[in-house]
Order: sequence, then structure tokens, then C-alpha cells
Amino acid sequence: MTEFASYLSQHSWLFITLVAAISLLIGSFLNVLVYRLPKMMEREWQQEYQAYFQPDAVASTNKAGAANAPAANDKPERFNLAVPRSRCPKCNTPIAARDNIPVLSWLLLKGRCRHCKAPISSRYPAVEASTAIMSALVAWQYGFGTLALVLIFVTWGLIALSFIDIDTMLLPDSLTLPLLWLALVFSLSGSALVNPAQAIIGAAAGYLSLWLVYWGFKLLTGKEGMGYGDFKLLAIFGALLGWQQLPLIILLSSLVGAVIGATMLAIQGRDKATPIPFGPYIAAAGFIALLWGEQLTNAYLSYLGG
Ligand SMILES: [Zn+2]
Repeated sequence: MTEFASYLSQHSWLFITLVAAISLLIGSFLNVLVYRLPKMMEREWQQEYQAYFQPDAVASTNKAGAANAPAANDKPERFNLAVPRSRCPKCNTPIAARDNIPVLSWLLLKGRCRHCKAPISSRYPAVEASTAIMSALVAWQYGFGTLALVLIFVTWGLIALSFIDIDTMLLPDSLTLPLLWLALVFSLSGSALVNPAQAIIGAAAGYLSLWLVYWGFKLLTGKEGMGYGDFKLLAIFGALLGWQQLPLIILLSSLVGAVIGATMLAIQGRDKATPIPFGPYIAAAGFIALLWGEQLTNAYLSYLGG
């Protein structure tokens, strides 16, 4: 194993290829995660709500079966990240393994279900391909080592968070908090980009800066521009990269957000009041900072300096 590791650190192309291949498969899993995690959370909320506000209904169903209770109180079908198998949303046919090969299957089937020919969203292969490309970029920038592996793992989390935010306007704690803990604990190792003090300050500064923007914006306009998930997302980058990278990330995310927001407005004529999730912009800006933050900050500072 150590021989293999030293071989990988000497042959970066092999490391990059390996990362890309594994990340294709991970991308396939991220599609499942993006689709199912919000549904799992919804089920949990529903159960908690019922247990809290309608304990009688739950109790009577448990005793007398589902006699008078709504169908939702029936023993729920198992639903998690592994069960049941992925199905075509149109004809409900389980998707065979040969039709589940990342990117390739979608291309071979020309973006249609094998059975009912219903179109399958191009987002699935797009998520798989971008997971592979983004992870390969990290591998290429950092080379084989613990740092690259941690950052690649974080990249996978960012992709899942971005698409969940686009779909549901949520950044689940079950994803943001473990990534934040990972970044903080990783700073204890000598391989991190920052030391523990810098990571802790970075995490707090990331959270607090958006928290302040949020409350400032809310007091001034009475509107909510973002959510608490956004603060946690920025805290992850603060913990990974240190607070010095935070201004760049906020600047970039506002820039990307403004450009994409204006484009959407032009293309779809989207109502200005329609909330647009901010998480994907923070994730994209943070990812850029993660890859090229130091170069960008240096270029910016030297530009300011003269
Ligand atoms: Zn089908």
C-alpha cells in the first residue's frame, strides 16, 4: 500500500485518472443523494410532526391498524440512500446495472428510459461528469496526499449541497456540519492548508460575516436574502482556507450570483421576487478559491498596490 502511495505521488497523471474514474461513480451516488436526502428529511419531519401534534393518531394507528388513519400513518416503505433501487420516474421500472454506468449509459440510451423511452434529465450525466472533472482538478492542483483526498471529499459534498439547494432551497445540516467538523479536525494534522487557530477563526469569521449580512439586509429591507445553511457553508471554507480567503469568496459569489441572476432574468423572465438559492454561488466561489485562491488574492493585492 505504501509502495502504491509513493508510486501515485510520483505519477500524478495516474493519480488524476484514478480520481476522475472513482469520482464518476461517486457522481452517480451524488445524484441519488441529491434526489433522496431531501425526501428522507421530509419523511422525518412528517413523522416528528405527527408524533408531536397528533400523538393520538399515531397511537391509535399502532393499536388498531390503519383503520381510520390517513395513509401516511401506514408503516412507511423503507426509503434510504440504498433502498429501494433507482427506478424510472415515469414507468417505475428498476434501472438495470448496465443502464446505470455513469455518463456512458445516458449517452448510449440517448437520454431515454430503455423501457418507456421517457426522457431522462441531462442533469444526471452532467453531475457525474462535473464530479469527475472538479475532483480531477483538485488532484491536479494538489498532487497525491491527504490534503488532496480531503479536498476531493469536500468537493463531492459541495456538489451535493449545490444541487440540493437548487432543488429545495435547503443546505442540510447532515451535510454541512460533518464537512465543517472534517475541516476543523483536519487542521490538527500537519497536512492542512491552515493551522488549528486559523481554521477556528476562519470558521467563525465565515459564519459570522454572512450572519451579519443576513441581519443587516433583513433589518434594512425586511427580506431574507439567504439562510443559515449559507453561513455554515462559508464556515467550511473559512476552516479549510483561513479567513484571508473569505473576502475573495464573498466577492466572487456575489459576482457569479449577479451574472447568473441577470442571465436567468433575461432568459426566463424570472420574477425578481423569486428566491434564488445562494448556496451554489458560495460553493462555486469557494471551489475557485480552493484551487486558485492564493494566486487570485496575490494578483488582486498587487493590482491594489500599484
Ligand atoms: Zn421508463
